[in-house]
Parts: sequence; C-alpha cells; structure tokens
Amino acid sequence: MFGQTYQQDYVEQRRRMVRDQLAARDITDQKVLRAMGSIPREKFIPERWRSEAYADRAVPIGLDQTISQPYMVAIMTQLLALDDNHKVFEIGTGSGYQTAILAKIAKEVFTVERIAELTERAKNVLKELGITNVHFKIDDGTLGWPEFSPYDRIIVTAGAPNIPQALTDQLADGGIMVIPVGPMEHQTLMKVSKRGEQIFKEPILSCRFVKLIGKQGWEDE
Ligand code: SAH
Repeated sequence: MFGQTYQQDYVEQRRRMVRDQLAARDITDQKVLRAMGSIPREKFIPERWRSEAYADRAVPIGLDQTISQPYMVAIMTQLLALDDNHKVFEIGTGSGYQTAILAKIAKEVFTVERIAELTERAKNVLKELGITNVHFKIDDGTLGWPEFSPYDRIIVTAGAPNIPQALTDQLADGGIMVIPVGPMEHQTLMKVSKRGEQIFKEPILSCRFVKLIGKQGWEDE
C-alpha cells in the first residue's frame, strides 16, 4: 500500500516538474517535455537521495557525481534539436537519466562513462525500463568513440576546460554538440555546430558541472 502511494506521489511530482520547471521556463520542444514526463527520474537516484528526485537542482548519485538538474537535462536536449533518425554520442553516462531521455527521442545512443559502477547501475535501470537502443562503454570519453562516428549529435555532461578536438572531429556535417566549457567552478554551456569545415560556437547560459576528467579534459587528482 505504501509502495503504491509513493508511486502515485512520484507521478504527481513528475507532472509538476514538467509544468513548473520546464514548460514555465523556456522548454517548448514537445518531444523533450513528453520524454521527461514519461521517464521515472526517481529510479536513477540511489535510495538515500531519492526523495529529492524532482527537486529543481542537481542531486548526488554517489561516487562524488550528480544527476543533472531537470532543467539542465531539458535545455541541453532541446538545444540538440533531436530527431528519431539521429545517432547520438553522450559523454558522462552518470545515472543514465539523460541517456534515457536521449534514447526516447533519438534512434541510437552511444554513451561513455569512466566510472564502471555508474555504467553498471545505468545499464540496469535502462533495462528495467525496456530501453534497448543504447550502447554503453566504460572509458575516457574525451577521445570520443571513433568506431561509430560521425555522430549527428554529441552531448557532454561534465565540465570541460576546452572543447576536445576529438569530439569536433567526430561530429557529422550539419551536426550539433552541447558542452559545458570553462574553469572548474563555473562553465558556459556552449552550442557547437558544424557545417562543412566550419565550426560555429554559441554561448547559451552559465552552469556548473562536475569535472570532465581525461586526456582532453581535466587531470585526475
Ligand atoms: N548525465 C548524467 C551526469 C552525470 S555527472 C546524469 O544526469 O546523471 C557527469 C559524469 O561524467 C560523471 O558520472 C563522471 O564520472 C563522468 N565523466 C567525467 N569525465 C569523463 C570522461 N572523460 N569520460 C566519460 N565520463 C566522464
């Protein structure tokens, strides 16, 4: 009985999140609103922090990492202008929540995470949700995943000191990448577009992400 009460409560919290944190701001892409209205965010958060699942902020997921704020997931996904024929590359699987949102809208998602335990957890949740169009890898994502490149869309969910060259190289012609770039304490979410040989960079908003650690990211301490 309690279980059911909690379930219904999460359904209501999810409805409110979509209305008050997303639609009431500037999230207008119906695909994004629908995906975020359907994926149970609480399943991606360890029990200790689960009651915070629909809070308007990033929430810890253990191992010093966080699940991004719902609005941040939404705006990044909206900036990608996703289509159901897109192949997407994600760096920083983390909880797998952003992965699930991408997988709901796009054709295929390739996601890389450097912490094996997070990949294992994310795999299990996506399996439970019946999401099958995701390919996982445990590795340093700053070098991309050349084998399946080029990617129509690339999303980086950790803060980078610079835009890794490998990622720009693996972006398809006409592709879009979103990536937080800047010092460790605060970054600027950048939208990077590729047209032929040309790369366009547009700053979108200020943000704060955990560090992107890797060969073309920050050094591990
Ligand atoms: N999208 C995730 C965000 C997780 S936080 C979510 O909403 O749950 C960022 C993640 O990036 C962390 O799990 C961290 O371990 C991972 N990360 C950091 N540097 C990385 C790298 N070079 N390659 C792959 N993953 C990386």
